[in-house]
Amino acid sequence: MKLMLLGPPGAGKGTQAKRLEDAYGIIQLSTGDMLRVEVASGSDLGKQAKEIMESGGLVSDDLIINMISSRIDHDDCKGGFILDGFPRTTPQAEALDTMFSDKGMKLDHVIEMKVDDDAMVERITGRYTCAGCGAGYHDSFQKPKEEGICDKCGGTDFKRRSDDNAETVRSRLEAYHEQTAPIITYYRDKGTLKSVDGMAAIDEVTTQIKDEIG
Ligand code: ADP
Ligand code: ADP
Ligand code: ZN
Repeated sequence: MKLMLLGPPGAGKGTQAKRLEDAYGIIQLSTGDMLRVEVASGSDLGKQAKEIMESGGLVSDDLIINMISSRIDHDDCKGGFILDGFPRTTPQAEALDTMFSDKGMKLDHVIEMKVDDDAMVERITGRYTCAGCGAGYHDSFQKPKEEGICDKCGGTDFKRRSDDNAETVRSRLEAYHEQTAPIITYYRDKGTLKSVDGMAAIDEVTTQIKDEIG
């Protein structure tokens, strides 16, 4: 199964993708995570992406399209995957269509997570992850069961993204509305779009997505 999660920064794409990975045995492909690995490694690709990511803008389509195209050829994608954070522009959506038809793949579901922009600032500024296993948390909305200890791996080291600040969130939301929101119409016109209420509680959103997938 191949899924796509669409929604602005903070909509809950990563949170839901991790739950769907466990439920369906498919893997999350987050272009944001892939870029952060490149930045941390200091690769050429990472060097090109770093400043743009810090400013809350979008990295060039060519770079992203090449990155995802080679990623989905890996063996671990054979059982299916969840696209999280890609595509983010109309050229990326069009490139994905071409890529899928060239590779003989089919996109099964596009899920739009509907949220209020106003709530996204608090979601983003309160977001943090386990440094050991990458599990996602929030200062108010998704705390570990025991304070300071990761539910999943027992780790005690956590980290926050440098671009998760109130200022950058504004630019990222702007980029979303200008460049990404048009692809919702693109998939609606194709008839593959389904929508869920991303403002609902985390468990409820998972249930809605599973209902849509069937
Ligand atoms: P995205 O990948 O779309 O940018 P995340 O999944 O990282 O978003 O979620 C952003 C933050 O909001 C995280 O800290 C997460 O714990 C929290 N969060 C995710 N979904 C919900 C929800 N339905 N209600 C409240 N908080 C949520
Ligand atoms: P979020 O979902 O919280 O906005 P991501 O982790 O998906 O954040 O992305 C972080 C940053 O990486 C984006 O602000 C952007 O600069 C870059 N990025 C990720 N995916 C793409 C993409 N498909 N196209 C262009 N830039 C991207
Ligand atoms: Zn952990």
